[in-house]
Amino acid sequence: MLAASLAVTPFAVMSRPVAGVRNNSLILTLPGSPKGAKENLQSVIKLLPHACQQAAGMDSRTLHVGGTEKLEQDAGVKAQTATPSTAGHHHHHHGHGHGGHAMPRAHTSPEERPMSNDPNAGPTRRYRESPYPMLSVEDALNQIAEHTPEPLITNAPVDESLVGSVLAEDVTARESVPAFRASIVDGYAIIASKHMMVPSTKGIFPVVSVSHAEAGEDEAEALNIGEVARITTGAPLPPGATSVVMVEDTVLKSQTDDGKEEKEIEILTADIEPGENVREVGSDVQAGEVVMKRGEGITVVGGEFGLLASVGTQEVKVYKKPVVGVLSTGDEIIPHDRAGELRHGEVRDTNRPTLLTAIRGSGFEAVDLGIASDKPGALEQTLRDAMRRVDVIVTSGGVSMGELDLLKPTIERQLGGTIHFGRVSMKPGKPTTFATVPFKSNTGEREKKVIFSLPGNPASAVVTYHLFVLPSLHKMSGISPVGLPKVKVMLEQDVRCDTKRSEYHRVLVSVNADGRLAATSTGGQRSSRIGSFKGANGLLCLPTTQSMVKKGETCDALIMSKILSNL
Ligand code: AMP
Ligand code: MG
Repeated sequence: MLAASLAVTPFAVMSRPVAGVRNNSLILTLPGSPKGAKENLQSVIKLLPHACQQAAGMDSRTLHVGGTEKLEQDAGVKAQTATPSTAGHHHHHHGHGHGGHAMPRAHTSPEERPMSNDPNAGPTRRYRESPYPMLSVEDALNQIAEHTPEPLITNAPVDESLVGSVLAEDVTARESVPAFRASIVDGYAIIASKHMMVPSTKGIFPVVSVSHAEAGEDEAEALNIGEVARITTGAPLPPGATSVVMVEDTVLKSQTDDGKEEKEIEILTADIEPGENVREVGSDVQAGEVVMKRGEGITVVGGEFGLLASVGTQEVKVYKKPVVGVLSTGDEIIPHDRAGELRHGEVRDTNRPTLLTAIRGSGFEAVDLGIASDKPGALEQTLRDAMRRVDVIVTSGGVSMGELDLLKPTIERQLGGTIHFGRVSMKPGKPTTFATVPFKSNTGEREKKVIFSLPGNPASAVVTYHLFVLPSLHKMSGISPVGLPKVKVMLEQDVRCDTKRSEYHRVLVSVNADGRLAATSTGGQRSSRIGSFKGANGLLCLPTTQSMVKKGETCDALIMSKILSNL
């Protein structure tokens, strides 16, 4: 401001404009003369939108992502075409993000791809039919496979948190299992050999030592031919011993004077082989052997975790599991647990708690991003903040054809994202949207965030989570094959099919009397009815080639969770 005034008169040095920030308010002091006030204000007015955003606390890294050039372009301070009045007008309405365009943008991007509605154009100028091509479910899944980022690799300690992870390296055993020659039974260690020097194992032997399964003991003294050592299951064999005789095959012959210890025992079997009842070093796993391969997962069954634990693995490289944020959208949506009666038009948030549960149940970390209002700035800011915290954003609502459906325009126009599909030929779930958004991380790395904008109707949101979000999360975690397992089930009743769009009908899949899988419908399948998921563990994939699948006929079903025991 001072520089601008000095260009008018050197007397400007006499007035000292002051600017500053108090809490979240930007404060400017202007000279008292109307002329001076106007000159000063004009010199900074184009920068005010940016300054206000920063004063309001917007994170400056995000704000400055495009560098000075973009800031100048947005503020219209270098672009020759932008007049002060259009730039000012523009910013008044849109804030930061796409300055210089006072006119509504055309409905195509520079590459002539269809683009989302311009929310500022109003309901009369919105599309009356979605500009996004209708993809088949298969094509939509291909888009997801293509545009989901490759998995990242991280080090993880070998503890319970490993369950559900996939190895990003081959793991070799550090140690042999067992690490010492161990007895398989309780009994007596002896020297048995086909060698001439060693007499029959049948006979009476002095008990010269004891070997218990305990750690840290010095190695026992060597056994001599004609002696035995008492030994417990898992205990190290004394040096020289070749075999162990089960206690059941022996009798006590004499005891020590105090009566507490065995002195001599008699072995009843003559033909004990060398190596009998002995686990040799490395007979389960040899040190240096590959125990698990890259791409293999650690399951809840416990076997893989146990194997890694048994060979002393401390840390492994695994694929980093994505963190998923869940956002509900809509001015009518209220927290599900808000006390009191509903006011007219209010809807309890069903999707957020349901999706958070489903994501965590699928083994991923989920972050609650709350509810975003249908005001454009609110959604943009919420999504920007979310990108700092999570790898994948799952929103619901705001992808229909209403003028308040802001997800697609916000992703494309404000976040500079790419919508890979915005419509799928399926029921429910037609407006499901999948996008990726470029993002610069704290460390300056260029990343790609994934956004799934699911339909608002709760049953649609859950179906499309299982069908589309899950395969993407699987890919990012290195899990293969991705998605839900598909099985054949027999229908317990007639089920009607949509002949245009692939329909996913919620069912309970159970094991019937002859060990086959059978499916029972959960009833009304309207997309608003989340109750269609109550008790459901499967999604029937109904054919579009017929209007009905009859009771007793078989059909494909995707399995979402456990199939319960048939007892
Ligand atoms: P929209 O696509 O935003 O128009 O939403 C479609 C329908 O789903 C509307 O009836 C919304 O009220 C409803 N809806 C959207 N989000 C939620 C939610 N989180 N919980 C329950 N219903 C929702
Ligand atoms: Mg809505």
